[in-house]
Amino acid sequence: EAKRQGGGVIIRYSERSEPRQINRLTLESDLQRAIERGELRLHLQPQVDLDTGAMSGAEALLRWEHPRHGLVSPMQFIPLAEEVGLIIPMGRWVLETVATQLAHWQQQGLPVVPVALNISARQFLHAELVEDVRQILEGHGVAPSLLELELTESLMARNPEVAVQILRELKAMGLRLALDDFGTGYSSLAHLKRFPIDTLKIDQSFVRHVNEDGDDAAIINATIRMAHSLGLNVVAEGVEREDQLEHLKRQRCDYAQGYFFSRPLSLERFAARLAGDESGPDPAPAEAGAPG
Ligand code: C2E
Ligand code: MG
Ligand code: MG
Ligand code: MG
Repeated sequence: EAKRQGGGVIIRYSERSEPRQINRLTLESDLQRAIERGELRLHLQPQVDLDTGAMSGAEALLRWEHPRHGLVSPMQFIPLAEEVGLIIPMGRWVLETVATQLAHWQQQGLPVVPVALNISARQFLHAELVEDVRQILEGHGVAPSLLELELTESLMARNPEVAVQILRELKAMGLRLALDDFGTGYSSLAHLKRFPIDTLKIDQSFVRHVNEDGDDAAIINATIRMAHSLGLNVVAEGVEREDQLEHLKRQRCDYAQGYFFSRPLSLERFAARLAGDESGPDPAPAEAGAPG
């Protein structure tokens, strides 16, 4: 989390780098200019069908390449962008970039997969979200079924009446809807009944110790069964090891994503993966290891 302390924001660029304090206003104005300066990047992390082992989709994850500080984690700048309202133009940039890529891959004759993107609270409740999505998809000639929106329960719980309305409109347009980070935050089983979602994403905090912690295993197993009874698909997040994968397969989890399969990839590398080239042409180092 980007913690506020006095006039500064504590920023930690990667697991390995030392946190440092940056003037909050500086960071804010840097973020303001990030879009126009082309400092935002979109990475895509493959999702895998556990029945076939094939790539079934991808999640779009935003990156900010700060000219002086290097790669900044979305855990740091998304909350800031949300707070100051920049999330609206940033979210639009993500949508636009995903639609552009999907159209591009289709033109190249690549076997496209649906792409999921994360929607934050302010973006979700913004009056123009539904219209933006419609216009951007139409503008690029991309089928709505190729787009999945990931939302969290806490976001929808803020204003359930409005949330249901927006979700219905998105659903009617043909989009897929996923509930992200399931089991964390304010979970209510009533959400599952009430909100017209297609997919439930099991939070990585449960997956991490699934074979050491009986409680985590129990939660995962029950979640998968419940989701299936409700007609929902299940994606497990944060799969890093084979033993976690084996557990999920035994429990008939539908899809998984995580470092075991692939880290989030640059657009070039992802396109190469779609084209069937496992190595990819991008010589850039694995993203998690590369602070600026
Ligand atoms: P999320 O949507 O739950 O995304 C999953 C996070 O888990 C990503 O972190 C991803 O890189 C990471 N991850 C994937 N596989 C593994 C694994 O095997 N092990 C571990 N330890 N982590 C794994 P990332 O990219 O840092 O994103 C963090 C959060 O920032 C996301 O959580 C999402 O809430 C938010 N975010 C990212 N991109 C966007 C965006 O475009 N818009 C909005 N509103 N939020 C975004
Ligand atoms: Mg997500
Ligand atoms: Mg998640
Ligand atoms: Mg299935």
